[in-house]
Amino acid sequence: MASIYDRHVDFPTFMEGVKRRNPGQPEFVQAVQEVAQDIFSFIEDKEEYHAAQILRRIAEPDRIVSFRVCWEDDNHNVRVQRGWRVQCNNAIGPYKGGIRFHPSVTEGTLKFLAFEQTFKNSLTGLPMGGGKGGANFNPKGKSDAEVMRFCQAFMTELYRHIGPDTDVPAGDIGVGAREIGYMFGQYKRITNRWEGVLTGKGTEYGGSKMRPEATGYGAVYFMQNMLKHAGNDVAGKTAIVSGSGNVATHAAEKLTQLGAKVLTLSDSGGFIHDPEGLNQEKIDWIKHLKNVKRGRISEYADHFTGSSFHADKRPWDVPCELALPCATQNELNEEEARELVANGVIAVSEGANMPTTLDGVKVFHDAHTLYAPGKAANAGGVAVSGLEMSQNSERISWNHERLGQMLTELMEGIHEKCVEYGTSEGGYVDYVRGANIAGFKKVADAMLAFGVM
Ligand code: NAP
Repeated sequence: MASIYDRHVDFPTFMEGVKRRNPGQPEFVQAVQEVAQDIFSFIEDKEEYHAAQILRRIAEPDRIVSFRVCWEDDNHNVRVQRGWRVQCNNAIGPYKGGIRFHPSVTEGTLKFLAFEQTFKNSLTGLPMGGGKGGANFNPKGKSDAEVMRFCQAFMTELYRHIGPDTDVPAGDIGVGAREIGYMFGQYKRITNRWEGVLTGKGTEYGGSKMRPEATGYGAVYFMQNMLKHAGNDVAGKTAIVSGSGNVATHAAEKLTQLGAKVLTLSDSGGFIHDPEGLNQEKIDWIKHLKNVKRGRISEYADHFTGSSFHADKRPWDVPCELALPCATQNELNEEEARELVANGVIAVSEGANMPTTLDGVKVFHDAHTLYAPGKAANAGGVAVSGLEMSQNSERISWNHERLGQMLTELMEGIHEKCVEYGTSEGGYVDYVRGANIAGFKKVADAMLAFGVM
């Protein structure tokens, strides 16, 4: 009988071990399974990876720090939350990955995100390892003062575990410019050091131009590269986007700039459908609604005539040619993927992390839809974060044009790597396989160089 200690353990036995060692963490198991199924066939004849148990080691984070975050709300009630930092792998550079504040956050969520981040960061070609952090804190409905006190309490513990050459967090769901500002200020106060310990900072204090746009724009550039490779284009296509946060609004913005018609956006309350399509004025209105007024997407339908709001629904049954899930994990299931395919979707580019379930991904593959997984498609954000780190180290600030050009080239480079490792005999590009293998190889080869640790 196969054991996990066998050098040539097979895929089902490997996954049994992952499930057993990570009880109650289905998203982490899902993320490992999605990567491992491709890596197993890639390393089949590569003894060095088996002997060093590389995959088993990558699927075990270097460390997880879990801590209490205690703060006081505006009514002087003492509140207790749980915070984490998952440092997954630093073989090719300091740990790097966002911080998520959302009531649904668990250790398992952050393990899945840190694991994905390891491969994504490797794909960018920049020297960044994989990490992720967060807390089960809900910034929604909190005053600015409450968010500030929470962020300061969170950083009061986190600061011991991070540093510009150790671990460099950034934003994610629920952590935008406001939260990064509060956390960076607290780090600086505690350590008395100004250093590039967080990315996504305001441009007044060391942030990079193009960082807010980078993830959404990058996901559209990746889609553009896929379409170009298949002899097609974004211009003139209908598109649906989910979410209405940082990634979704910037994806919608770039799509409209490139001549696509964006029909939807959403939040956890439902989605809006605008048959006329969004334009820059409408997108700016949504950015203000979400970032300044902290309102709900349903308000769009009250404001713009001709549009409608669909409560508690997701946008995937709206016919379109391009689809960009940009909200959260597992927001697009098998049935919804079938509906998209039946309605003629040509390309799917994931702005969010793991938004499509494993069954949904299979539907896209079976239909030969151009399908880009988040670890490739949304890597533009962390890539520009990597460039923010470089600018901070050099104490300089690059201009918009230069960074825009670098982002375009980085996304082209990631696309090329996916094509190199993901093209099958018939010419169909399996972007999941391409991204998994290209991302794995660099990390695995670095780990081999270090020996057993
Ligand atoms: P954000 O600005 O906080 O926006 C998140 C959006 O997703 C909001 O519209 C939110 O709606 C919606 N959402 C969150 N949880 C949801 C749920 N359970 N069901 C339905 N909608 C939900 O976050 P973001 O930075 O755009 O991140 C979005 C996704 O992109 C995440 O998967 C993140 O990991 C990924 N990502 C982000 C970056 C980046 O640079 N920001 C980089 C790479 C990947 P509500 O307001 O109703 O919660």
